[in-house]
Amino acid sequence: MTKRIVIVGGGVAGTMVANRLAKSMVKEVYDGELEIVLITNTAQHIYQPGFLFIAFNEGFMDQFKKEEKYLLHPRINLVIDEAKIIDVKGYKVITERQSFDYDFLVIATGSYPDMNSVPGLAEAGHTFYTPDGAVKLREAMLNFKGGTLLLTIDVPHKCPVAPLEFIFMADDFYRELGIRDKVKLKYTYPIGRVHSMEAIASWAVQEFDRRGIEYEVFFNLEKVDPEKKIAYNMDGSEHPFDLLVSIPAHRGAQVIKDSGLGDEDGFIPTDRYTLKMEGQDNVYVVGDATNLPVSKAGSTAHYEADIVVKNIISEVKGIPASHRYDGKAFCFIETGLKEATYITFNYEQPPRLSPPSEMLHWFKLSYNEIYWLAARGIL
Ligand SMILES: Cc1cc2nc3c(=O)[nH]c(=O)nc-3n(C[C@H](O)[C@H](O)[C@H](O)COP(=O)(O)OP(=O)(O)OC[C@H]3O[C@@H](n4cnc5c(N)ncnc54)[C@H](O)[C@@H]3O)c2cc1C
Repeated sequence: MTKRIVIVGGGVAGTMVANRLAKSMVKEVYDGELEIVLITNTAQHIYQPGFLFIAFNEGFMDQFKKEEKYLLHPRINLVIDEAKIIDVKGYKVITERQSFDYDFLVIATGSYPDMNSVPGLAEAGHTFYTPDGAVKLREAMLNFKGGTLLLTIDVPHKCPVAPLEFIFMADDFYRELGIRDKVKLKYTYPIGRVHSMEAIASWAVQEFDRRGIEYEVFFNLEKVDPEKKIAYNMDGSEHPFDLLVSIPAHRGAQVIKDSGLGDEDGFIPTDRYTLKMEGQDNVYVVGDATNLPVSKAGSTAHYEADIVVKNIISEVKGIPASHRYDGKAFCFIETGLKEATYITFNYEQPPRLSPPSEMLHWFKLSYNEIYWLAARGIL
């Protein structure tokens, strides 16, 4: 009898899992023993790290977007539809138009920045965390002739290093435009240091001081007055701005909440090693959708996808799933418009920074292109 693997979400994680499964089990797929169904709610596959470059007029949306159908192995059944309910008791996914039974399910529905999490933020704030937001922010960055650029950050959010990349790139951007002396850059962070990872925080503070970037910790945005252009910290302090850029708290996909599968933020309780949804033996969770204490990042999704694919193949073949995810993540960090560094870490090893260099910046830019090979399951 044909076994069916259903994957919900065609972003980094879902696409990688689907392609790797199809390539590894090509015989079973062609013999009709295995069917791979990928359900995703948009025909476009967007490479989100590109948004950062768009905001600084270093790239355009066309570079970072492809049709999902051209990325997938031809024998994957692509369904462009909204998953409405994931019924893990009934082993089925109900979409707007159809219902799909499964033998194995992979949930890869990602996370989204909730600009409505703070009153006034959606009206007053810019973000580079969405395609439209990045394009609008580019215009605002180019039109900004001086004043205070305030960056606020809430957690959890994907790509934990992107806010730092943004502020360092903004520093270079306004230096290149010759108006850095007219621009006050102010970085804020919600906890008692400037980044959740200690090694990054101590490096970043030195960089802030060297570059004349102001910073404030324990900054938790409570509300924004779009008329007066004031951001209010929870401690009651008022922070005037001329340009507000925000990375708001992220949430899991609506379908996770509607299906009763997530925590209060919509993230799915997941076993940190097996990547199975807690209490479900045939359901895996990959990428931003998990509640794991790892960075919500494309690289995390990539490493997790490898484990999930190996374990599903084992289980389809009747062998116990023995592969374990070790929490590995890798992030390039742009330290300006022309240099970058990188970090790698896992559950046990904290990150260590390499000295920034122009070569690492070129590696980061190269990965923007190489990504499409990774999505296709080639790398
Ligand atoms: C500005 C920015 C910079 C970044 N930089 C980096 C970086 O340098 N390095 C790095 O590793 N990561 C980076 N990231 C993070 C990275 O893009 C995400 O962590 C990654 O995309 C997560 O993959 P995912 O598959 O879990 O989620 P996504 O890629 O978001 O995919 C989720 C998919 O599920 C679909 N979906 C959701 N709900 C439903 C539903 N009900 N039915 C059907 N489909 C649904 C969505 O439409 C989407 O296609 C960055 C992100 C941003 C925004």
